[in-house]
Amino acid sequence: MTEVTLTDVIKRYGQHQAVHGINLDIQDGEFVVLVGPSGCGKSTTLRMIAGLEDISGGEVKIGGRVVNDLPPRERNISMVFQNYALYPHMTVRENLGFSLKIAKRPEAEIERAVTEAAQILGLDELMERKPAALSGGNASGLPWGARSCASRMCSCSTSRSQILMRNCGLRCGSRSRSCTRKSGIQ
Ligand code: ADP
Repeated sequence: MTEVTLTDVIKRYGQHQAVHGINLDIQDGEFVVLVGPSGCGKSTTLRMIAGLEDISGGEVKIGGRVVNDLPPRERNISMVFQNYALYPHMTVRENLGFSLKIAKRPEAEIERAVTEAAQILGLDELMERKPAALSGGNASGLPWGARSCASRMCSCSTSRSQILMRNCGLRCGSRSRSCTRKSGIQ
């Protein structure tokens, strides 16, 4: 994992300002949840961190490096979308480790990453189950775990915050940020 810093970050779509100067300092290993009404700029903020949106103003740093102009593939960051697909024919263990396996990472590293993610998500007793045999809550956390394994540095999720908070908040230490339609994320 690594630290992520946003300084006075804004996003404009033409005349419409979607993000109003967010300042955020996320420490190495910290678990942060952005909370706010629909349309207040949560997804846009995550997309700017991941590099999927240009930044209209301000600065985004990942690991102390300004990434404003860095393409997504060079940011070593993963993003889980609400409808992220799991591989239904694979077990929880195989889904979690799949990205590292195709990246040909050493077995020991894959095992370590998979075990860590499964423990955080409370899936360690369910490793041999397939996604269809999981409860809704467990199945919803699994994509985050898979992406977390794929990128050990940083993960963004566009939803499922309640599940992530329930599964990870107490163990990882969580911090919530609220945002309002008027002033953007605070
Ligand atoms: P949230 O994730 O908090 O629901 P978004 O970040 O998706 O909100 O959207 C923030 C604001 O930016 C909304 O008013 C939305 O309509 C607007 N917006 C998002 N994407 C675009 C886009 N591609 N073009 C124009 N406006 C956009």
